[in-house]
Amino acid sequence: MEFEVVIGLEVHVQLNTKTKMFCSCPTSFAQRQNINTCPTCLALPGALPVVNSEAVKKAMMFGYAINAKINERSVFNRKNYFYPDLPKGYQISQFEIPIVENGYLFIDTQEEKRKIGITRAHLEEDAGKNIHEGAVSKVDLNRAGTPLLEIVSEPDIRSSDEAVAYLKKLHAIVRYLDISDANMQEGSFRCDANVSIRPKGDDRLYTRVEIKNLNSFRFIQKAIDYEVQRHIEAWEEGVYESEVVQETRLFDADRGVTKSMRGKEESADYRYFPDPDLLPVVIPQEFFEEASKIPELPDEKEERFIKEYGIGRYNAALIAGSKEMADFFEKMLSYGIDAKNAVSWLTVELAARLNKSGKDIVDSPVCAERLAKLVQRIEDKTISNKAAKDVLDYLFEHEAEVDEAIEKLGLKQISDAGAIAAIIDEILSANEDKVAEYKNGKEKLFGFFVGQVMKASKGKADPQLVNRLLKERLG
Ligand code: ADP
Ligand code: ZN
Ligand code: MG
Repeated sequence: MEFEVVIGLEVHVQLNTKTKMFCSCPTSFAQRQNINTCPTCLALPGALPVVNSEAVKKAMMFGYAINAKINERSVFNRKNYFYPDLPKGYQISQFEIPIVENGYLFIDTQEEKRKIGITRAHLEEDAGKNIHEGAVSKVDLNRAGTPLLEIVSEPDIRSSDEAVAYLKKLHAIVRYLDISDANMQEGSFRCDANVSIRPKGDDRLYTRVEIKNLNSFRFIQKAIDYEVQRHIEAWEEGVYESEVVQETRLFDADRGVTKSMRGKEESADYRYFPDPDLLPVVIPQEFFEEASKIPELPDEKEERFIKEYGIGRYNAALIAGSKEMADFFEKMLSYGIDAKNAVSWLTVELAARLNKSGKDIVDSPVCAERLAKLVQRIEDKTISNKAAKDVLDYLFEHEAEVDEAIEKLGLKQISDAGAIAAIIDEILSANEDKVAEYKNGKEKLFGFFVGQVMKASKGKADPQLVNRLLKERLG
């Protein structure tokens, strides 16, 4: 039997507001535990929450970015459950009326662009952290009350590759909007994956399993692949009904398996009800005007790169897929270099070196200006393409200007016709027999002469000029 994979993703994005969702405590890093707290986020009796308007605006910007409906009136609810890092005994979240509904984004698959629906995006507060140290467990409430935007997709995703493509697009969008730093390692962009399978052609939704708290693209892919395989095997062995139950599972990255964590609560278990301490959020008109001014997003940027700079779709998507890359690229172009050269020096040469040293583009030892200067030196024939790679290696390790590095490495190309002609004359007179053979029709020898001249110049002669002058000399 052939199966179809069905995936829906819930992503929690920590919004980069200065203060928490319902109090004025800072969201910034604190040296000590329980420092960024106040009566409201400590849940002391009588303390009242107040909605953070910046968080509302940021959620609205996201709504515009995914062409969603932004609800002028939305409601905060209490989601009741007990956990030591949740001092109120409930989380303030949104339920029936979220701030953002019915949006979508496009992902690139091998064949086509696919539209993935986004059911809703709602505002809520984060919990604190439990810290387990041997026999002692502590609760740190610095994070309690930090604003989160929970983004819930439709079950439109059909493979782990598509799940990763969706997450990367979402990640790029929130970075472009600058509503979150979306740092996965630090947990400000985390994902729960809901996974099920069904016989191909059947459009019912089968039992889903939720895999919680995945914080790297690689783990997400592995966790989904493992889970899909588990469902298929259970089906094929006739134990689907008993093995695949609605539950929450955790991914064990060391062993590459998912394990049952707990039975999945139904929403009725949370006893959602409107928070009586908070009025419904009614968004003022000027918020709509402000929030609708969103910057250029990855898809538009991709199209513009293709049109404006004449680069291919693959590279345009690759560069526009990251705000940092795109900014780096356009900064390079501001020095007037050829776009295709900029693409290859950024996405091939620099990217390979960053990759090898495990560095991100934002920490690149070679800035956009220097990389552009390097390309300029190839374009104005100061150095050869090959020499430029050595210069880039040098710049990667040393703090130096491009021209300094070229000088230091002695890689300046010889593009003075007189100097090259002199070398050519030397080579030709040292090889008179070969010159005669060439003139008698052994044209293959041309390559030999080029090689000799390049060698004599220690690889520094401009090869195009060598070719031209040699042709002239040999008639
Ligand atoms: P909960 O908080 O209970 O997990 P949500 O509505 O927030 O519920 O999220 C449910 C997620 O599960 C959505 O992303 C939805 O697309 C996805 N989903 C629902 N049914 C299935 C299914 N049968 N297979 C895969 N994903 C599903
Ligand atoms: Zn507080
Ligand atoms: Mg869920």
